[in-house]
Amino acid sequence: MDILSICFIGIIGLVFGSFMNVLIMRVPKNISIVKPSSFCPQCMEDIVWKDNIPVISYILLKGKCRHCKKNISIMYPLTETLTALLFVIIYLKFGLSLILFKYIIFIFLVLVVSLTDIYTSTGDFETGMIPTVYIAFGIFTGLIFGLIEGYFAYYLAGIAAGYLVLFFPAYIYSKIRHKEGMGEGDFMFFAMIGAFTGLGSIPAVLTFAAFFGIVAGIIVIIITKDRNYPIPFAPMLGVSAIIYVFFEELLNSYNWSSFIIN
Ligand SMILES: [Zn+2]
Repeated sequence: MDILSICFIGIIGLVFGSFMNVLIMRVPKNISIVKPSSFCPQCMEDIVWKDNIPVISYILLKGKCRHCKKNISIMYPLTETLTALLFVIIYLKFGLSLILFKYIIFIFLVLVVSLTDIYTSTGDFETGMIPTVYIAFGIFTGLIFGLIEGYFAYYLAGIAAGYLVLFFPAYIYSKIRHKEGMGEGDFMFFAMIGAFTGLGSIPAVLTFAAFFGIVAGIIVIIITKDRNYPIPFAPMLGVSAIIYVFFEELLNSYNWSSFIIN
């Protein structure tokens, strides 16, 4: 594992991150991801290739559009950097292997779903959005890898458990409070996570996500003073799923069932 291959994976991560930005901005609005080519969302001018290089163009342009001089969202280089960083970490952990490809696809999907949910939870959209196309692709791909690994049933059970473990509490919540806490998209997203990480991951991912959700909830209430401020749950699941992938052995050495029973 030399520095050259690490740089190569990093560059792939930047390119994937750049593509992810396109997906996050366009898919919720039903705009084609190929046409038109990149344009400034403020002045609609086309962005030429040299202004469209991940992270580097942002730095060279000092974060401003070449034409209208308005600020380019910091989210673009941040998404690219985060994707590159996670790809490199996953490469350092697994090396060049089948599981590397599996987790690169997984992390890409987890990021695109989480960031789309955050993006659509703010701004012009009515509620956070989790496009079904990512979930369907993820479940299908996860099961293919499960089949190759020879543990198809384990991942199939992960899908069912991921879905149901959120569906039931959300159902009870909606009956008691007469409003929706989590949505179908969150159940589906957890099902997709289960397709990649299997049945054994569900208790750990759920515990982390609940913890992050509570922490985020407290912070949001303190800042907004609004007890009903909606917090997207997909990012909590996303962060938890990535933590699980990075620390899988460590987490599996802990007996989660004893945690639930006691
Ligand atoms: Zn512009």
